[in-house]
Amino acid sequence: MKIILLEHPRTFLPERCNDIANTPLSSCLLTGYTAAVLRSRGHEVEIIEGYLDGLSYREMEKAVCNAAPLLLGVHIVYHWEAHRKLFRFLEKMKESGACHHIIVYGFCPTFAFGEILRECSAVDAVVIGEPEQTFGELADALSQKDSLRTIAGLACRDGAGGFAYRRRELTADLDGIPFPVRTEAMFCLPEVNIQGSRGCYGACTFCHIGPF
Ligand code: SF4
Repeated sequence: MKIILLEHPRTFLPERCNDIANTPLSSCLLTGYTAAVLRSRGHEVEIIEGYLDGLSYREMEKAVCNAAPLLLGVHIVYHWEAHRKLFRFLEKMKESGACHHIIVYGFCPTFAFGEILRECSAVDAVVIGEPEQTFGELADALSQKDSLRTIAGLACRDGAGGFAYRRRELTADLDGIPFPVRTEAMFCLPEVNIQGSRGCYGACTFCHIGPF
């Protein structure tokens, strides 16, 4: 299956900086790991770096239309009030037939999946928590035209105005996940990020790590 993973443009607001704290760092390899798992399952995956490459919505639209994926995965880290712009973009992509399915994943959707599924009809489902295995299973299911409803870690509309999901067990064998795909844009950063562990020994009530 042809899949695009999209890092959308992010709005940086100095006054909200403390709200997001280390979330961009925590999530910087989620797309790369997801792409690696999808490729290991035989899917054709391309990453569009809308954020790092500073793409406009028009440029992203062109890139998605050129790629014509069956599945568009969108990594939402944080987005504040600019959500609507992203949602309208996704609706346009779906309505124009540029992609058939849209799934979102990341820290923001994990905690705001209800709001996203309510506000954006173009989003078919939301990956909750660690995305790699859930995304792999849903891509396989879509390839085989199977239902997504039974996949652990995926929040879907239940058809009665609510949402159905069950959390997936945490990935026990982190070494079993292939090394992340790194894009050219990532090598323009003044750092190279690696992930040595997941989770935390702390349980600070204000922190996103434990609930994720
Ligand atoms: S739970 Fe506490 S110690 Fe652990 S990453 Fe969060 S803030 Fe830091």
